[in-house]
Amino acid sequence: MEKIINLAKNRGFIFPDSEIYGGWANSWDFGPLGVELKNNIKQAWWKRFVQGRLDMVGLETAIIMNPKVWEASGHVDEFTDPLVECKKCHRRSRADELEKGNMCPDCGEKDSLTVPANFNLLFKTFVGPKENDAAVAYLRPETAQGMFVDWPAVLASTRKRLPFGIAQIGKAFRNEITPGNYVFRTREFEQMEIEYFIEPTNWETEFDKWLNEMRNWLTYCGIDSKLVHEVEVAEEDRAFYSKRTVDIELDWPFGQKELYGLAYRGDWDLSMHAKQSGREMNYADTKTGQKFIPHVIEPTFGVERTVLAMLLSAYREEDVRGEKRVVLGLPAWAAPYQVAVLPLSSKPELIEKSRRLAESLTQNNHCDFDTTQSIGKRYRRQDEIGTPFCVTVDFDSLEDHAVTIRDRDTMQQERVVMTRVEGVLRERLKNKGGLK
Ligand code: ATP
Repeated sequence: MEKIINLAKNRGFIFPDSEIYGGWANSWDFGPLGVELKNNIKQAWWKRFVQGRLDMVGLETAIIMNPKVWEASGHVDEFTDPLVECKKCHRRSRADELEKGNMCPDCGEKDSLTVPANFNLLFKTFVGPKENDAAVAYLRPETAQGMFVDWPAVLASTRKRLPFGIAQIGKAFRNEITPGNYVFRTREFEQMEIEYFIEPTNWETEFDKWLNEMRNWLTYCGIDSKLVHEVEVAEEDRAFYSKRTVDIELDWPFGQKELYGLAYRGDWDLSMHAKQSGREMNYADTKTGQKFIPHVIEPTFGVERTVLAMLLSAYREEDVRGEKRVVLGLPAWAAPYQVAVLPLSSKPELIEKSRRLAESLTQNNHCDFDTTQSIGKRYRRQDEIGTPFCVTVDFDSLEDHAVTIRDRDTMQQERVVMTRVEGVLRERLKNKGGLK
């Protein structure tokens, strides 16, 4: 984990937030490379689960919604974690995460913890110029409710037929009692969520299909399958309306914990919003004319946890002729750069020729252009940030208009005429986890 954190900071994936002011606990910024990786993940997810299917539509709802949404969903009353406080050092912890009885995890004092009290995780704010009860609103703690409250509008405007799903990617906020473990648990994070609406009788088949979709996504992301565990959530731990929930957990360096979740939610959400809003949430079957509230399967994916799982799976160290080589073996589609163009020397003609090549390549594949340091150091740097291919322009290139393409994983090099570089790269990238 330390190695990932250092590499991410030094190379520009993830920085501590507001560092010039001493940082801001558990807040992280995504640097120039991190934002590329994160965007590639979100775009690939959207392409796969929304644009790549006929039974899905996308949505973007507000972060600050009508507070009645969160009253109806139960979040205002029940979105709580059990909180205990140490009477000696006053540190607050989550009672359900304590390992050793009634002992403070911070100062180690025995029998020092208060009786657990429910602590609400909603971020409260005031909307408008008055700070009174009538102005209270919440930052959404999940993207899911947006899909439920907009269900009638989506149905009416798209005329989709069951089964179909609504997907959303966006920020969520939770006032976590114990954030930590790097970007694993933060108070501000992003979710990629799907609410898949079905006929009630089909729930088991649809659930299995989604579990499979989630497995395929993990493989696509290059997440090491040996680290993944599918945990059937026991009845007593499931929400009362759920007949089946599977937590997809990962062996993180800090223990086995949730990466994603898949839940069968019955008709709970739509029925509850129908009741509280007084609006109809029914679906009318065109064949039978029968009206009913659809049931829902919910696959949910955390963006930052995906980033961390991918970094952990991709990181490797190799010994190359007695020297350590660090490689981030990310799938080609996810890497911040698909290719880097490296002129062998700073001779103006070489720089000029290389720059023109880089400018043309970056129209289709994100291309880095690096003229600093020795070629060996530049290769190592590109290996560390996961760039699948480097293209080196050397003195011969000025005569034969050919360049050398170097493979991140095998370190093999091949000479290719410049006019063919784009096509060769496309083929090679396809075999390295796929194009963007
Ligand atoms: P946990 O048990 O880890 O608190 P959860 O069961 O509360 O997670 P959900 O409410 O199911 O999580 O949220 C859906 C997804 O959002 C999670 O699977 C996870 O990937 C992500 N997520 C939830 N809370 C956080 C957080 N505080 N920071 C980063 N990602 C989060």
